[in-house]
Formats: sequence, structure tokens, C-alpha cells
Amino acid sequence: MDEEIYGNYRKAGRVLGKALSAGAKMVREGVRYIEVAEKIEGIISKEARLSFPVNISVNEVAAHYTPSLNDHLKFKRGDVVKLDAGSHVDGYIGDSALTVEVGSNENEHIIRAAEEALHEAIEIVRAGVTISEIGEAIEKKINSYGLKPVKNLQGHSLERYNLHAGLSIPNVSNSNGRKLREGEVIAIEPFATDGRGYVVDAENGNIYHLKERARGRLADEMRKRFDGLPFAGRWMADIVGKDRINMSLAFMLRRRAIYAYKKLVEADGGIVAQAEHTLLVRKDGCEVLTAREKT
Ligand code: MN
Ligand code: MN
Repeated sequence: MDEEIYGNYRKAGRVLGKALSAGAKMVREGVRYIEVAEKIEGIISKEARLSFPVNISVNEVAAHYTPSLNDHLKFKRGDVVKLDAGSHVDGYIGDSALTVEVGSNENEHIIRAAEEALHEAIEIVRAGVTISEIGEAIEKKINSYGLKPVKNLQGHSLERYNLHAGLSIPNVSNSNGRKLREGEVIAIEPFATDGRGYVVDAENGNIYHLKERARGRLADEMRKRFDGLPFAGRWMADIVGKDRINMSLAFMLRRRAIYAYKKLVEADGGIVAQAEHTLLVRKDGCEVLTAREKT
């Protein structure tokens, strides 16, 4: 990999690790989701750009929720909180997630299952390993906890300004014999649950994507600010003013200029934990680009 590109990935990964660690420390009973989201996004923005809004997904919500500007939600004791955040430097993306439980450890095994599954995957990733071998390792590890992986959520390859590039890295074994190649960048993200092991769509999660074909002054401004990557409704405040966010989003949805992501919830209401890192595939192993400093 080109040295400059590598440097950008490293920088994006390092600031993301720092931001997630700081965010995790803030997750306490009574703290508002929006405070944590703004903290994490603020740290990333100092040294890099955001590649998507911080997802704060709690308990049976697996992914795709970010707080709105005046979101009233606060963390409660026993909540299982996934923080999933993304950065980029010149389009080279870091994507990483962690899970914490608020003030208790009743679901520690679910969190550990996701973390251990990620660890297991990292151990085997190198040029030549197949996609199915990774999925199998993740599934086995999570099953060993008496839990299920979420089978319709997947890791993915990353390319410049492309969060979900061509490859999908499943959390279960499949028949994909495609081998990883040296220099590829992938995000691996096991989700473990005590539910049925798949997620279904719920209501709007305040995360949007501008469509490529969207035209007009507002669309152009959004494209410039959000780099063609997913954005939070609240990020529109700087463009249209905070009182006009909802109106502008509704307008753009009607015009089919933006796409709204749905919150993803576990089909059985099971508790979900997630762990994720972005990895650079090397000849004999991999480098964790989003590693967090030990605290
Ligand atoms: Mn992620
Ligand atoms: Mn990801």
C-alpha cells in the first residue's frame, strides 16, 4: 500500500480509537445520548473527518440509531450500549465499535462473546484466508457462549470514500471461498445476541444518505459537507439552521434526494453486543488500524 494512503488510514484509525475510548467513559446512568455522540464526533473532527454519524444503539437495537439534536434519551442502569463511529482522512475510512453495560454486568457474557469473536477473527486474518473461514470462526466463538451471531449484519471491505465496498464479511460460516488479499482494508464486526440472531427494520434512526443523483443548491452543499457519506439529521443545523432541519429532511425525502436508514432491532428483542475494528490485511497477518490504547 502507498505510504501516503497508509498514513491516512493510520491517522483515521488512531483518532477514532481515542474518540471511542473517551465516549465509552462517558456512558453512565442519566447521561444523554446526544452528549456522548457530540463528544465522540468532536474528538474525531479535530484530526479527521466523520465518515458517518456516531451510532448509539441500546439493548435490542443493534445499529443505525443516532440521537437527534434535542433527543431526550438518557442511559439507564443495565443498558447494553453499542457505540459505533467512523472517521476518514482524505477518504480513507476507519470504522470501529465497542459495547459497554451501564452500571451492571448482567450481560457481560454477550459483550465478551462479541469481543472474543472479533479477537478470534483478527488472529486468523492474513492474505489467503477465505471469507468463509472468518465467518466460521466468529460463529463458533459466539456459539461457544450459548449465544447467536446476528446473521444479517456483516463486516465489509473499505475503499476510498466507500464505507461498504465490494466484500461482505459474514458473522456466520458461508460458502464464500474468496481469499483476502494483501493490502485490502476490511471492517470485521461480530454481533452477539441472546435472541434469534437476526435484525429487522424499525423506525427512522436519524441517519441519512444523499443520493448521487440529487441535484440543487442544498444537495450540492450537503455533498460538500458530508463527502457523499452517511450523515445525521442534526448535522443539517449548520446548513439550514436548527429550526429547519425536519422540514428540509422531509422535503428531501419527498423528492427522493436522500435515503433514510431504519433502526435495526433484534427480531426477538434479544440483547445485542457488537465489537468492530478496521484491519489492514498483510501477508502474514493483519494490522488493527483502529486499535485503542489500553486504559
Ligand atoms: Mn461500524
Ligand atoms: Mn462497519
